Amino acid sequence: MKAFSKSFTQQEPLPEASILRATEIMRNGRLHRYNVMPGEVSETSILEQEFARYQGVQYCLACASCGYAMTTALRAFGIEAGEPILTNAWTLSPVPGAIDAAGGRPVLVETTEQLVLNLEDLENKLQGTSSRLLLLSHMRGHVVDMDALVEILHRHGAALIEDCAHTMGAAWNSKKIGTFGVAACFSTQTYKHINSGEGGLLTTNDPELMARAVMLSGSYMLYGQHLAGPSEQTYSSIRLTTPNCSGRMDNLRAAILRPQLADLDKQVARWLERYRAIEIELTGVKGLSVIARPHKEHFVGSSFQFVIPGITDSQAEAFLTQCKEHGVDVKWFGAKEPHGYTSHYSSWHYVDSAPLISTDQILHDLFDVRIPLTFSPEDCRHIGRLIGLCCGSSMSL
Ligand SMILES: *Cc1c(COP(=O)(O)O)cnc(C)c1O
Repeated sequence: MKAFSKSFTQQEPLPEASILRATEIMRNGRLHRYNVMPGEVSETSILEQEFARYQGVQYCLACASCGYAMTTALRAFGIEAGEPILTNAWTLSPVPGAIDAAGGRPVLVETTEQLVLNLEDLENKLQGTSSRLLLLSHMRGHVVDMDALVEILHRHGAALIEDCAHTMGAAWNSKKIGTFGVAACFSTQTYKHINSGEGGLLTTNDPELMARAVMLSGSYMLYGQHLAGPSEQTYSSIRLTTPNCSGRMDNLRAAILRPQLADLDKQVARWLERYRAIEIELTGVKGLSVIARPHKEHFVGSSFQFVIPGITDSQAEAFLTQCKEHGVDVKWFGAKEPHGYTSHYSSWHYVDSAPLISTDQILHDLFDVRIPLTFSPEDCRHIGRLIGLCCGSSMSL
């Protein structure tokens, strides 16, 4: 079979409207979000307002990254030094990193075969640690049963902050992901769903939490300029006691994000078409399983995960090599050493965790490919066929 030749890290060009607006802002030189002419509203404030509307929430803060948004949400929530914060064992390293940066102690929760948080282990750990807060990562866009999750947290009096880096544009039972807890954090980094190189968005309906977050982000005394912030009087009790931990977004990034946000739902449909194309090719491949997606889950198929149950380390290495030779960039969550963006919780040595037996087993057999929108549905079918072929030949070794 012909090798695949496109790049797995090549995103689409930005919309022409993004480029035009960014050029205007570069021409006027007012890149800082608080650098406005009398009567002018900054691009960053408008983005916040548009994203709050998109999510159907009251408040939004644009900031430097999703990692920064998570740290800020945790601080604005008011976590205390050393406080246990529950989070997914299977996630990206900025998630435990944000808990650490906010002074919390990550407590890792097991993963299910559907690649979501294990709710039984969550309950055990809520009981065992009396944690007040779960930072839930919808890792690779897999959404846990949110009805069951919210019920468990409610019963234990614990709050929820959502990491929506892979779920911007997603929903559970028609309710937007990012509206189930006290706050939600989104990424606009190049490999997520809208692209400004780096960037983050923090949303909430809690006026005090947002006031603290805006102060933390480095608003100085200019918070009154925010369109998607709480009333000025909300700031009166916290404005002098909340540190400035500079991490704002700038107008240039906001300008290139706004047209992309307007296109987001269309892009989500394109991702789904590509995801289904890979899924069709991999369904029924001997020795390989795809992840069943619940019907309540409206997901963004910006990456594809599959499992090769019982694969040995040497077969996995052979499989990765063969995929690479066929031009398919497959990542493996079972590798002993962290590679590129992919790591396993056991390589976060600052997190004190006992081995998590079921997560270890699941990640050992788990593989992952990106789906940039520069791939056509036919490209995705081609990729699916190549993965199937490489799986067959490496499993017979
Ligand atoms: C990328 C990512 C983040 C962090 O986003 P940044 O904007 O790069 O800080 C957080 N969580 C997950 C699951 C991610 O993939």
